Amino acid sequence: MSAIDGKILFTKSDCYKSARKMTPKGIVIHSTGANNPNLKRYIAPDDGVIGKNDYNNDFNRSGIDVCVHGWIGKDKNGKVKCYQTLPFNYCCWGVGSGSKGSYNYNPAYIQFEMCEDGLKDKAYCTAVYNKAVEVCVYLCKLYNISVNNIVSHHEAGQRGYGSSHIDPDNWWGKHGYTMDKFRAAVKAKLAPPTLDKTGRKKSNADSLALKELLLIAKNLGINKYGMDENKHFGDGTLNAVNYLLGVWGYQQNGIAGENFIKRLHTEIDKKIK
Ligand SMILES: [Zn+2]
Repeated sequence: MSAIDGKILFTKSDCYKSARKMTPKGIVIHSTGANNPNLKRYIAPDDGVIGKNDYNNDFNRSGIDVCVHGWIGKDKNGKVKCYQTLPFNYCCWGVGSGSKGSYNYNPAYIQFEMCEDGLKDKAYCTAVYNKAVEVCVYLCKLYNISVNNIVSHHEAGQRGYGSSHIDPDNWWGKHGYTMDKFRAAVKAKLAPPTLDKTGRKKSNADSLALKELLLIAKNLGINKYGMDENKHFGDGTLNAVNYLLGVWGYQQNGIAGENFIKRLHTEIDKKIK
């Protein structure tokens, strides 16, 4: 399952036509501020999934000064989906500008709207929130975007790079969601990097040097796991290795290779000095 469920580019919009190119450096999250959770309110033409806008007031037209990269809302069957409406390497017209500039242009951020409803339906809010997490994980991987560069419109304004709106706090705040929680959820889903692909691992019989280092680290308070003083890489060693990998922000794959040893030496040196 992809994070982006469909693509209907706003080719008739002035923003699309201006086609100013960008390299995404972050993400701005918006909510619409209007009670209409349906994607078809904003997106057209109907692809058979989102449903048809009967009022001819969608945003895929000229003369509209708001145009973002994507929208999260309900399809015609009420299922929460994300639709892309602008290429991710086009600058969008989303956040406005502040005292320092605008995340529309410099630095340019990918921006998406979440379609508000009447703000009382916790299940809908949660489904949209979870979809937004998925979308941000996808975009962070795709463009190597730091999770710290995911902001709400509210935060963009506070940082001086957007107009002073408060979305989506006006909505999320009613159901216990915050941007800090959101960023933590994205971080948790992004697989941490691998420090070593090869090296000493469980059941290696010749791991005395590694264990000596880990014991020194334990005595210095760097590593909290002890281990038997023999040359065998057992559960105690595994716990210690994974503990340190976790502390250092790496995938806990149980492998202590060259990079691990180097890092451990550095940590020990820092403590001794
Ligand atoms: Zn906004």
